[in-house]
Amino acid sequence: MLTKSEIYEATVCDYTAEGQGIAKVEGCAVFVPNAIFGERCRIRIERAQKTWAAGKIVEILEKSPHRVNRECEVAKLCGGCDFWHMDYAEESRLKADRVRQALNRIGGENLEEVPILPAPTCQSYRNKAQYPVAQRKGKAYAGFFRAGTHQVVENRRCLILPEEMDQVKDAVIDYVDQFRVSVYDETTGKGLLRHIYVRKGVVSGQILVCLSVNGRKLPHVPELLNRLQKIPGFTTLVLTVNQKQGNAVLGEEFITLFGPGYIEDTLCNLNFRLSPRSFYQINHHQAQRLYQAAIEQAQITKADTVLDLYCGVGTISLAMAAAAGKVIGVEVIPQAVEDAKDNARRNGIENAEFFCGDAGKAALELEAKGIRADVAVVDPPRKGLNADTIEALHRMSPRRIVYVSCDPATLARDVALLKEKGYRLQNALAVDLFPRCAHIETIVCLSKLADTHIEMEIDPEELNTITAKVSPTNLTPEREAAIREAFQYYGLI
Ligand code: SAH
Repeated sequence: MLTKSEIYEATVCDYTAEGQGIAKVEGCAVFVPNAIFGERCRIRIERAQKTWAAGKIVEILEKSPHRVNRECEVAKLCGGCDFWHMDYAEESRLKADRVRQALNRIGGENLEEVPILPAPTCQSYRNKAQYPVAQRKGKAYAGFFRAGTHQVVENRRCLILPEEMDQVKDAVIDYVDQFRVSVYDETTGKGLLRHIYVRKGVVSGQILVCLSVNGRKLPHVPELLNRLQKIPGFTTLVLTVNQKQGNAVLGEEFITLFGPGYIEDTLCNLNFRLSPRSFYQINHHQAQRLYQAAIEQAQITKADTVLDLYCGVGTISLAMAAAAGKVIGVEVIPQAVEDAKDNARRNGIENAEFFCGDAGKAALELEAKGIRADVAVVDPPRKGLNADTIEALHRMSPRRIVYVSCDPATLARDVALLKEKGYRLQNALAVDLFPRCAHIETIVCLSKLADTHIEMEIDPEELNTITAKVSPTNLTPEREAAIREAFQYYGLI
């Protein structure tokens, strides 16, 4: 065990899922924030356990060529981003490698490389902001939580957000100060304003402002609107009633104070309606590339039924509808399902159906009704698929499963589980939707082993001949291997 407060010299040899550097000291993994792969550092141990320790850089003895000056003023304090201390080339490399390592270690793969689609820009890319609000000496301020705390770090200009979002924040803070609107205090549970939520349609330019309040009313609404209407694109103001303890931003109830209560945006040439609650990928450009990759990997034909589990407002389902016979989307949040139905209508799409419910349970019910999916798309939250979903996929036996994931570890776990059900990994691609932050999106395609023989164009007659022949002689090794695999799949050998 390492000694607390002691300083050790070590080289950073890897990264954690949260983007911290890992250095090995006397066989013990030391997690070091702000450290870059290859750097030789003097590290002070802050916390020591048997197999791991947490440390801080005291001095960098050999600096990485990827180390840069932080462009963001509050990067060191703010818990929002993780990578302002390194260049984007290193960030992309480590993200792709994290996906590769997860698929190999947990998913049982043996991949030498996972390709990544890096983002074309690291700035102003987010289409959604959620600022917690706090108060100091009677003056309100907003920003982001300090890593691992609920302490608000004031951020005047957040570089990953478009400028209008900071303008909204400033306008709301100005209004709060002028009209002495109370600010929520977590410790007492008193005070009104909790969070400023802003969503922007990147193509439409429309802005939705949703204020999370510990109450049902807001004073001086016209004066607030007066300020917000000066911001280009401001379209609608909504209140969300959030009277529960905890860090959820949105409550259950929404009250529209101005405008339609939603905004519109265009994604993959489709028009979408977005309410505050609806899930919508926060990086518009990269989301389009992600969905494009999903469409390519799904290899859909007009005869196919596509099942889109965890469909949100129907983005992937609707982007795939033109190529498919039919798409069925399943989503647990009723408001998102309503949006998805409306999105189908507003785009004139008639071959899409949406159901509200738990993905796994709904898929099992659909399967029991005799509905089969030729292709399945799953895009679950971080915890990944549950047992019901895996079981439903197994029973429905789609030819291909396109898995969009925001957590490489749970993705890799599910890949291993799906492999047990007769699937195999066809390809994996990381797509960076979150530059400067440790999150990474991955898309993988799994196919039923039987696909091999379709892809290799082995016809069933040939299979019969070969069964009879037992040992084929006129085949290339690849073809023989594919046929063997197909035999195994059909239980012939
Ligand atoms: N595919 C969509 C949404 C992906 S985010 C898109 O790309 O825009 C994941 C979605 O899963 C969210 O909309 C969330 O509300 C939904 N979800 C979470 N748990 C679920 C469950 N158990 N069953 C169905 N949907 C669920």
